[in-house]
Amino acid sequence: MEPALLFLLVVGVILGLIVALPRLRRRRLLARPFPPQWQQILQRNLPIYDALPDATVTELHHQIVLFLDEKKFYGCGGLVVDDNIRVTIAAQACLLLLNRPTSGYASLQAILVYPSAYFATQQVYDDSGVVHSGNNTMLGESWSNGRLILSWDDVESGARDFHDGHNVVLHEFAHQLDQESGSSNGAPLLGTGSSYQSWARVLADEFNQLQRQAELGQDSLLDHYGASNPAEFFAVATEAFFERPTELKQLHPALFEQLYSFYRVDPALWKPTHCEPGNEGI
Ligand SMILES: [Zn+2]
Repeated sequence: MEPALLFLLVVGVILGLIVALPRLRRRRLLARPFPPQWQQILQRNLPIYDALPDATVTELHHQIVLFLDEKKFYGCGGLVVDDNIRVTIAAQACLLLLNRPTSGYASLQAILVYPSAYFATQQVYDDSGVVHSGNNTMLGESWSNGRLILSWDDVESGARDFHDGHNVVLHEFAHQLDQESGSSNGAPLLGTGSSYQSWARVLADEFNQLQRQAELGQDSLLDHYGASNPAEFFAVATEAFFERPTELKQLHPALFEQLYSFYRVDPALWKPTHCEPGNEGI
């Protein structure tokens, strides 16, 4: 065989393996049954899990398996990361990936978990453009360099109360989706079926409305922190979309519609199958 031909053949085989091996690995991982102990963790820590339709549960399991295979977890401040922590974080992160084409947070490599809220030095610009740095108490951070940081106490309490509109995992992973577009500006990669024009118009209107409410100290469904900038607005709106979908649909129908076209799930349909206290019937 000609050396040039042999070279091309070897390159072709290597490229083929580079493409095929990850696919084979994923197929092998997904062929295994979802570990029962992981299911018990979800039932214990994430009440919304029992409200998901069967098909959604199956897809969530697949996403969790792939997520935990690909992402590395590191305990900080003496925290030992176990399956309880890994599965609880992965499940909430993967709720943002259901029903849509996804790279599975491809640029994210490491999740650092502190036992509770932690201090981080941050630099902020004041109105005159002067930089100030100070220690702030943080529940989580999302970085574009492949790292995401979370406080376990707040992950756990956020998962247990999935209806208060506050969830640090949903918030920080919404930032990850936002960053996939190349910059953190409140406009993630929308994919087909969505229009950047209507997304920009609706989210800008809603952001301006929240800024006015925050300035006037008025109550709002969306946390006033979302008025900080468009990136925070998208993260805060994501929390409300998953945790307070019925109210968001009623009070901000255009915003709900945009988020629905992006996330492709309607969390308002996720109803617990068990009886609520005080609703036992007679
Ligand atoms: Zn944020």
